[in-house]
Amino acid sequence: MPSDIATPRRPTRAVRVGTTQIGAGAPVAVQSMCATKTRDIDATVAQTTQLKHAGAGVVRIAVDNDKEVEALKEIRRQTDAVLAVDLQENYRLAAKVGPYVDKIRYNPGHLHHVERGKPIRDKVAWLAGVARDTDCAIRIGVNCGSVAPEFLERYPGDQLEALVQSALYHCALMEEMDFERVVVSLKDSDPEKVVAANRRFAQARPDVPLHLGVTEAGMPPEGIIKTRLAFEKLLAEGIGDTIRVSLTLPNDRKHEEVEVGHRIIADVEQGRFISIPDFGQGLNIIACPSCSRVENESFVELAAQVRELTRYAQQHRVTIAVMGCRVNGPGETDDADLGLWCGPSTVNLKRKGVKIGAFNYQVVLPRLRQELDRIIAERAATGAQSATDAA
Ligand code: SF4
Repeated sequence: MPSDIATPRRPTRAVRVGTTQIGAGAPVAVQSMCATKTRDIDATVAQTTQLKHAGAGVVRIAVDNDKEVEALKEIRRQTDAVLAVDLQENYRLAAKVGPYVDKIRYNPGHLHHVERGKPIRDKVAWLAGVARDTDCAIRIGVNCGSVAPEFLERYPGDQLEALVQSALYHCALMEEMDFERVVVSLKDSDPEKVVAANRRFAQARPDVPLHLGVTEAGMPPEGIIKTRLAFEKLLAEGIGDTIRVSLTLPNDRKHEEVEVGHRIIADVEQGRFISIPDFGQGLNIIACPSCSRVENESFVELAAQVRELTRYAQQHRVTIAVMGCRVNGPGETDDADLGLWCGPSTVNLKRKGVKIGAFNYQVVLPRLRQELDRIIAERAATGAQSATDAA
């Protein structure tokens, strides 16, 4: 289901990812990610097929340990989809997964978690070597929720610049290692930040293909609107060579991410843009799209329950983040007014970066409401701005 963007595209270099080309005028490739347990081979192969049939040019899978590497080998055997792997904290898994995938994504903000004494440059050199030896492309995937600490220190108070500079630095390191099969992503849950970060990066490095994404966009329709707000602007400016729409959906509807991605591309081509002037002025729920790491099957249901429970507060400018696991949950909820992330049997709740506690699934919703009421009451008492006040 290729699409050609009618607007002028940036003349990036071409990056081959298996049989999919990213950049250099190739159709914008739509990607997605499996939300099944990677160790459940049948379910993951089925979802890979579901996504590929919907038009996914690249399908990403999370691999965190040796058992999942074993599962990946079998998944690779059973599918001809173009596969990418998402490395989180343990970048050393790259050597084990490289032979079975076409692209490896690493997050510069997670490299310091293992082999703490080893210079970042050496880690990147090793990753470039693995990618070269296993015929993989690399995505340098930076994220506002997990910017490398040294860049946050270098750009105090300017998280966006820290994010962009971190991506530029890693690009330069890759080139120092003579490795150019690199795609970059700069993601956040705020569409405006995604637009700003990608524009800054594209200006500095117009030659490097960009993978666009709004993280934790949440459930449709809000998740689609947030994603469109960013993608429409960037694609219309010729920025973006591959896209991923991250939506919180049950597993049997995961292919909708790919369909939405193709629809956005087609709409931009034909000059159809959305206009929702008041969007983003009230309650904002961000929710991860879930993946193999999700710690409880009830996560998608929990995200839907949070939305239902908080409808009464629509007009208040409060951000609630709902995340599926302990890997990204704590960091990605830091900027929210209220954050929840799943553990196996409890849900962690925090307010403005401070953890309140871990509650079982039955208790966490009333507790969330209590905290939300408290925020609204405090703001009313201090005259702090809510969406209603601002309108
Ligand atoms: S927060 Fe966790 S479960 Fe959700 S998409 Fe990210 S890694 Fe997967």
